Amino acid sequence: MDNKQVAAVLDEIAILLELSGENPFKVRSYSNVARAVEQLDIEIETLVGEKRLREVKGVGESLEQKLEELLTTGRLEYLENLRKKFPATLFDFFRIPGLGAKRIQTIYKDLGIKTLDELEAACTSDHLSQIKGFGAKTQENILKGIAFAREHHGMFLFDAALTAAEILRDHLAGNPCVQRIEIAGSIRRRKEVIRDIDILASSKTPGPLMEAFVTAPTVATVTAHGDTKSSVVLGTGIAADLRVVSDQQFPYALLYFTGSKDHNVAVRGRAKDLGLKLNEYGLFREDGKNVPCKDETAIYKRLHLPYIPPELRENMGELDAAIPGLVDLDDLVGMFHCHTTYSDGSCTIEQLARACIDRGYKYMTVTDHSQSAAYAGGVLPAALNKQMKEIDAVNQRVGPFVVLKGVESDIRLDGSLDYGPDLLKKLDLVIASVHSKLTMEEPEATARIVKAVENPYTTILGHPTGRILLGRPGYELDLERVFDSCVANRVAIEINANCHRLDLDWRCVKRGKEKGVKFIIGPDAHSIEELDFDRYGVGIARKGWLEPGDVLNCMSAKEFLRWAKK
Ligand SMILES: [Zn+2]
Ligand SMILES: [Zn+2]
Repeated sequence: MDNKQVAAVLDEIAILLELSGENPFKVRSYSNVARAVEQLDIEIETLVGEKRLREVKGVGESLEQKLEELLTTGRLEYLENLRKKFPATLFDFFRIPGLGAKRIQTIYKDLGIKTLDELEAACTSDHLSQIKGFGAKTQENILKGIAFAREHHGMFLFDAALTAAEILRDHLAGNPCVQRIEIAGSIRRRKEVIRDIDILASSKTPGPLMEAFVTAPTVATVTAHGDTKSSVVLGTGIAADLRVVSDQQFPYALLYFTGSKDHNVAVRGRAKDLGLKLNEYGLFREDGKNVPCKDETAIYKRLHLPYIPPELRENMGELDAAIPGLVDLDDLVGMFHCHTTYSDGSCTIEQLARACIDRGYKYMTVTDHSQSAAYAGGVLPAALNKQMKEIDAVNQRVGPFVVLKGVESDIRLDGSLDYGPDLLKKLDLVIASVHSKLTMEEPEATARIVKAVENPYTTILGHPTGRILLGRPGYELDLERVFDSCVANRVAIEINANCHRLDLDWRCVKRGKEKGVKFIIGPDAHSIEELDFDRYGVGIARKGWLEPGDVLNCMSAKEFLRWAKK
């Protein structure tokens, strides 16, 4: 068992304990250890072997015993007994945003409801609102939540899907039979959530390649094993397809299997207008002869189109517009939105600064949580002053690299920021973010955010809609108003690069750009590894048609400070 699997077991125990009505401290102790195990930089199996489990934060005698049992036998009696108390289908209820263990327990105990279908029926027949504590509004929200959960069932976050796809691709790329190989599909288009992995290869001898694919170490089950196409399900639950074509067909197949469907329809329409026929096998003239194209660029060129980067292939006007020079990871010189040990980050200012230098960055912004965010170790005014002094000292050591002083201030319920002007004016930048009362209606949410944007100390609006991908939809916002307000008050909007968020949504980023909004890509890093989230933010920025000039990370520290000054 690897660390991720062990963490998943601990999380399951936490959920089952919560359902059993156990005290919250006990529940939390399991989820805390789950997080600690995930972050270990050593395999937990090694720790068991060396009798060092107690070194993991939060592991006492009883958990030590359980982990030993789990890792030596692959089973855990304690968990199996807990599982017997509830039907497994009850776990689906946790996918409904806003529904916690207490309510799930009530729904199960009072109405005997065990499945999503039964729960949906109880809502539509107005049964649920009859239970104590469940009004008509809750019932309505649960119905919306069920729709959300269904829509996202079987979807995966981008980083998990990309990692799994890259492992498969690299496993195959070493095979001598491979001529060309690419990850296609929605991963290539950098979509925010992914249903499955599509890999396309060209080869003269597909057989051994198919064999290598179905026997790859991450594969759990093989659902099809053919000559040109095979399908598998990985241990993580994500499905993957491999298609093998001839090298001559590869460009047409790559275009086709990259999608999106709507883009393909539009491109085929363009071909038709030119008297050609495009499909995954080729680009054919009326006489049936193929137009030879060595790559996708050549296909687009034959259709009188510039090369369209995969991120833009969403049928959002890319066939008719001038294709922008999209921002690239290499264009970024500023690392925004970093948390340190002053709040809930795991690294010091200097550790993060040196890691940014290693990654080629020229400056970074420290933006720890503000005082209201007690759950995240929000920084009190005295500590913020101390941090500013420490930043001065670090800057002496890391120059010419620069650490800028900032904060991620909670936007309070009334739209105000979390510190007074005396403190805010000492900072180089303020990211203003909503972390509380995420269930607002649109007018209330818009007013709260516009008020924060109008605050003269706000520089950046952080994760603007509060969505958690596959977890909860964001609050609804009148984005047109927010964009106007950001432009008028010279406030940038964050593309939060954490794959759980990827907020602002790329579909809205394009509209913001058209209105003149500037963006920053924020990894929201709480550790050194999380600095690398920047690449996911770049993917979303590209999907939103952004060029280096739209993204403040591409400015030097000096330029940024000049921009931020009001
Ligand atoms: Zn935040
Ligand atoms: Zn943050």
